[in-house]
Amino acid sequence: MSNKNEQPVLELKNVSVGYESVRGTVRAVRDVSLKIYRNEIVGLIGESGSGKSTLSNAIMNLLKNSATLLGGEIIVMGQDVYSLNKRDLRKFRWNKMSMVFQSAMNALNPVLTVEEQIADVFREHRPNMTKKEIHDKAVELMELVSIDPKHLKSYPHELSGGMRQRIVIAIAISLEPDLVIMDEPTTALDVVVQKSILDKIKELQRKKGFAVLFISHDFSLVAELAEKVAIMYAGRLVEVTKAEDLNLSKRHHPYTEGLLRAIPELTAETVKIEGIPGNPPDLINLPTGCAYNPRCKYAMESCKTIHPVEQDLDGRQIACHLYNEDFVTKAVR
Ligand code: SF4
Repeated sequence: MSNKNEQPVLELKNVSVGYESVRGTVRAVRDVSLKIYRNEIVGLIGESGSGKSTLSNAIMNLLKNSATLLGGEIIVMGQDVYSLNKRDLRKFRWNKMSMVFQSAMNALNPVLTVEEQIADVFREHRPNMTKKEIHDKAVELMELVSIDPKHLKSYPHELSGGMRQRIVIAIAISLEPDLVIMDEPTTALDVVVQKSILDKIKELQRKKGFAVLFISHDFSLVAELAEKVAIMYAGRLVEVTKAEDLNLSKRHHPYTEGLLRAIPELTAETVKIEGIPGNPPDLINLPTGCAYNPRCKYAMESCKTIHPVEQDLDGRQIACHLYNEDFVTKAVR
C-alpha cells in the first residue's frame, strides 16, 4: 500500500484541456484532480470520447493539434511538466514518465529490428553506455517481458500482436521511469493474450515499483488490474474509488452504478443486466448542472442547474448531489 505522506508520483490539480473544432471549443477534460503514488496501479475508465486519451496526452505534454491545457497543474515527481523546456521535457519523458500507446504496430518502427529500437533509447538517453552494455540491457528487457532474446533480431511484422505489445512495454520501462501511462494497451488483442499482458504488467510493476495509470473503456479489465479506479464522464472524474469497493453493495455515482449493472459478473449477487440509456453528451454543448443528468435515473430538478462538486464518501470521491443534501452550490460551468 502507498503511504499517503509520501510525494505522489503524479499529481493532477484541477486540470482542464480543450481544443478548437469547427463547431466551437471542445471541453475534453474538466477540472480533474488525482494523485497516484509509487507502487500503485490506477485505472481510468470512461466511454469513448470521455476525455481519457486527451488527459493522458496532457500528462505527457503531448497534446495534439489545437488542444491546450486550459488550466490546472500536472506534476510528476514534484516537477511541473509544463514548466520544462523542450529539451528537458524530452529527457523527462523517458526517464521519469513514459507511455504505452494503443497500437503496438504504430509505436514500433517497421523497418528496424527490435534490438535497434531498444538500443535507440539507450543511445539517446545513456550516451556513455557501450554497445555490449546496451545489448545486455536489451536481453534483460526481453527476458523481463518473457520473450526469447533471439527475437531481438526480428522485425515487428515477424512477431505476434501480444509479443509486439510486450516489447512496447519493455521499451517504455527501459529507463526505469517512475510513471508509466498505458492507454488501452490490450485493445485489439484476444482475451487470452490480454490476460497474459495484464499479468505481465502486474508482475513488472511489483518488481520495479513504478506507478501505472491504466486507461481503458473496459470496466472489468480495469477492476481486475487496478487497486484504485477513477471513473470519467464527459471530461470529469465523477468517482474515484478502491477497485475492491466496485460492487453494488456500496453506494456509487449513478454512472458507476450503471457501468456495474452492465457487468453483473463483478458482483456476488444475481443482477439483471441493464445498459445505460442515451448517449454521452456533446462536449461542445454540455448539459448545464450535472453533465450526466439527461441519462440519470435519479436526476432531480437541481441536477439540471447545479454543478455537483466532489466530496468524500467513505473514502471515495464522488461528484453527485445524491450524496450532498445541501447541494453545495458552485458556479455552473
Ligand atoms: Fe444523477 Fe443528479 Fe447525481 Fe448527476 S448529480 S449523477 S444527475 S443524481
